[in-house]
Amino acid sequence: MTQSRPNVVIVGGGIGGLFVANALTTYGVAVSVYEQAPALGEVGAGVYITPNSVRHLQRVGLGPAVEKWGAKVGKNSRYYHHDGTLIAPVQVTDSSGWNATYGMHRADLVDMLAKALPPGVVHIGHRCTGFDRAGNLARVTFANGAIAVGDVVIGADGIHSELRRYVFPPPRPVFSGTVAYRGVVPTELVPDWPAESWEMWLGQGKHFLTYPLRAGSLVNFVGFVPADATMKEQMRESWSAPGDPEALRREFAGWDPRVGALLRQVQTTFRSALHDRDPSPTWTRGRLTLLGDAAHAMLPHLGQGANQSIEDGMALATILANASRETIPGALLAYERLRRERAAKVQSGARENGLRYDSFHADLAIRDAEIAAHAEFRKRLYDHDVVPEARAAAMELV
Ligand SMILES: Cc1cc2nc3c(=O)[nH]c(=O)nc-3n(C[C@H](O)[C@H](O)[C@H](O)COP(=O)(O)OP(=O)(O)OC[C@H]3O[C@@H](n4cnc5c(N)ncnc54)[C@H](O)[C@@H]3O)c2cc1C
Repeated sequence: MTQSRPNVVIVGGGIGGLFVANALTTYGVAVSVYEQAPALGEVGAGVYITPNSVRHLQRVGLGPAVEKWGAKVGKNSRYYHHDGTLIAPVQVTDSSGWNATYGMHRADLVDMLAKALPPGVVHIGHRCTGFDRAGNLARVTFANGAIAVGDVVIGADGIHSELRRYVFPPPRPVFSGTVAYRGVVPTELVPDWPAESWEMWLGQGKHFLTYPLRAGSLVNFVGFVPADATMKEQMRESWSAPGDPEALRREFAGWDPRVGALLRQVQTTFRSALHDRDPSPTWTRGRLTLLGDAAHAMLPHLGQGANQSIEDGMALATILANASRETIPGALLAYERLRRERAAKVQSGARENGLRYDSFHADLAIRDAEIAAHAEFRKRLYDHDVVPEARAAAMELV
């Protein structure tokens, strides 16, 4: 089996691409990662990392790095009405009470994943422009003229995936009508801010989220507001469009004074229009498969974008590690069967949660009760371990 182990080409050096590269490397499978950007992970702010992916980060040896660079989320985590009155506590553990929930700066997570790979695996400055098959091999071409050939290609190239169109006709982005202002405030500027707190304030058509990053030295914030007509026309799915801090402050004027106190310290923010996609009919074609946002772009209202891409990566690596060159097309379909339904549920759950958070509900007392009861959904989400099922699926291929 080892002699005919596949050689894997990964397009996209974001969280999903770098994680699956780590998982495959841990299993002893040869990988190369091709990323379009001239440098890794410079853009972004907070990503939320929950037990369902932390168990996989630990499996590939990154538990200590998560502890070092992450900021534990635990006590003081609460939902509030916009005026600061309490709605409910936030579920941060799985059902066994294991608290492995962290805020991480995206740049730290990407850096940590990249540094854990052997030298020479990641190739930056490679924008993928095409895909084709060459006999039993799969081939990708790049704008710089380079070509990469492997037994399998993983499209981990994000929400604007180039490789998706080689699997199925590109789905239309679905605009949520919401714009997110993101950024960070150094904790020293808000010394009374409670440690370890994930907090969310819910208003009519808007909500505001905070959680800690980088060992508690930064407070991450996201202000979700309705898009106006100009934004609808102009805003594409960009992670780097600058936002106006004054406009952000105006959006949340009159809310809980704690929100105002944090926003007074904001000097820079960037904003993105929130889109997702309807669940895809398939993720796989022959020796090409998709992973992460390329397969299942979702809204951020369950904090699962990064976590689901890590779950995908662990499932795919576990199956590929047990596949031979000959069994790859079946292995990729087994991965897709394992992951597509769960990812689709998280996609639709994120849409529903966004409506709750923005108070689009006939009876807000019932909405508040749903938010409190949502702890059970989160426990089940966090309990999930994809590895036993992936091992069983891999065994069926042999
Ligand atoms: C620049 C950036 C900033 C982000 N900031 C945040 C944030 O602040 N908060 C948050 O919650 N989420 C953020 N995200 C999204 C979050 O990282 C993802 O939703 C999630 O982690 C899923 O990961 P992914 O690997 O599927 O996609 P991504 O993390 O988006 O990674 C996709 C990677 O593929 C690369 N790529 C795209 N097209 C090509 C191509 N043709 N050839 C080669 N490489 C290609 C991209 O440059 C990117 O590095 C950001 C994503 C990006 C790309």
